[in-house]
Amino acid sequence: MAKTWVHNFGKNVSFKPAIFAEPKNDHEVIELLRQHRGQPVRVMGSRHAWSDAIKTGGVLISTKHLTQIELKPDRQSVCVGAGCKLKHLLKFLKKQGLTLPSVGLIDEQTIAGATATGTHGSGKHSLSHYIRRVRLAHYDKTTKEPVFSELDSGADLRAARCSLGLLGVIVEIEIEVRSAYRIEEHTKRHPSVASVLELEKQYPLQQFFLMPWSWEFYGQHRRETSANSSRLAFLYRTYWLFGIDWLLHLVIILLAGFFYIPRFIRIFYQQVLPKTIIENWLVTDDSHTILTMDHDRFRHIEIELFVNRSNLEAALNHARATIISFGDRSKARTTPASLTKDDCQTDYQQHYYHHYPICVRRIRTDDTLLSMTSPADLNSAEDWYSISFISYQSLHQRSGFFEFANALAISMQENFNARCHWGKFNPLPPSANQNLYPHLKEFREIAKRYDPESRFANDWLKESMLDIPPSAS
Ligand SMILES: Cc1cc2nc3c(=O)[nH]c(=O)nc-3n(C[C@H](O)[C@H](O)[C@H](O)COP(=O)(O)OP(=O)(O)OC[C@H]3O[C@@H](n4cnc5c(N)ncnc54)[C@H](O)[C@@H]3O)c2cc1C
Repeated sequence: MAKTWVHNFGKNVSFKPAIFAEPKNDHEVIELLRQHRGQPVRVMGSRHAWSDAIKTGGVLISTKHLTQIELKPDRQSVCVGAGCKLKHLLKFLKKQGLTLPSVGLIDEQTIAGATATGTHGSGKHSLSHYIRRVRLAHYDKTTKEPVFSELDSGADLRAARCSLGLLGVIVEIEIEVRSAYRIEEHTKRHPSVASVLELEKQYPLQQFFLMPWSWEFYGQHRRETSANSSRLAFLYRTYWLFGIDWLLHLVIILLAGFFYIPRFIRIFYQQVLPKTIIENWLVTDDSHTILTMDHDRFRHIEIELFVNRSNLEAALNHARATIISFGDRSKARTTPASLTKDDCQTDYQQHYYHHYPICVRRIRTDDTLLSMTSPADLNSAEDWYSISFISYQSLHQRSGFFEFANALAISMQENFNARCHWGKFNPLPPSANQNLYPHLKEFREIAKRYDPESRFANDWLKESMLDIPPSAS
């Protein structure tokens, strides 16, 4: 079926594929590949990625009908259709007294979409790490016919765990599950990053926020517990849903749009927000409820950068200096003390007032080839920390954010080897990715075996991952 325009969640990616298809089962996927042999093919899940990952002018396959779930008899893993949304999988698992080993901030993504870009939460590996087997539809190297392959061990599995769709169409994933658990959480203000990190051993699942303009830290201290859910857990949920997910975000949207006035944003973060955060309210609830929020309620755009623990403090100082530089045009034209001369080569053209808390999460190293926390050597690697920068400005107001995100991504990559989330706004040039991912060459060789003619790549991925000029087919 021909399709009109396709947009992603953030509406920063819009394109018109030549063909749009929604196969009902694995065999219809093979049939589609046979029918459109020789044409470029991409797959989409829930379209929540902000990068160009799903873009194509060729065939776009939606996995919305591939949603079957089957628990393995040993209850250690589950086989899931690629298009099953995490929220449906989590609901199914909950009925069995089980859950996923890791979850991000939302559960709207499909299992294949989430793992294709290394989606993660805090304190665990990314979801990709837990994949045990992938069933892939792709073109056979010799016959060029579409076939299924099962990737369940060695480097092929490590490539398939986070592949951005470059090996072919994933139709089913087998992923590890664990028994359901509860999390105890409380929030606490901190004067410095060192003070938050001191609590990490006690609260291994914690994440924290750097508040722009007050530059204070708020730790969401979390750990697994065997305690029962708190009596007031429902009140805490209500506070989060109405107070944080709705009210706080509506205020931020006003500050990012109608009242986009630096003084107001500063006053909000310095004087208003601290009074609304309830510190030390200790609550226990089930992991899914504590870990996810209604973060996809309002459209926004995000860039997320990953650094090693040894670079975290310097990277946060750098981010703070960049935000201040962008926030004050006159200041931006001189070199802030904490930035090197090279960092400030950009003569910032746009105002950009950062207006959202900067979320920092710890992610353990993944046994993958390409996810953002895949290390050179699994045994000797440090944890990674992701740092998120979100803008709630409307589509026509985003040029300042894009300039900010570009400057930040490039300077953080140069200074701290920072990697960019594959599923978020990702402006890093191809040359940077080649240096950042030690297993990229190995990944390319594997991708060539499963997709010898690079039919499953788009222009962005050809350049940044496969070292193929975008115009070549
Ligand atoms: C509000 C919001 C909150 C988010 N929170 C987090 C978070 O907490 N942590 C985090 O790490 N990320 C987060 N993300 C990013 C998100 O998890 C990723 O962008 C994820 O890839 C989106 O999944 P999707 O199902 O929407 O996939 P899509 O955006 O549709 O596709 C993403 C990639 O997966 C590929 N793909 C999808 N299905 C298949 C398949 N069957 N076979 C082969 N390739 C496939 C696509 O080709 C594309 O390359 C968030 C995004 C949003 C919008």
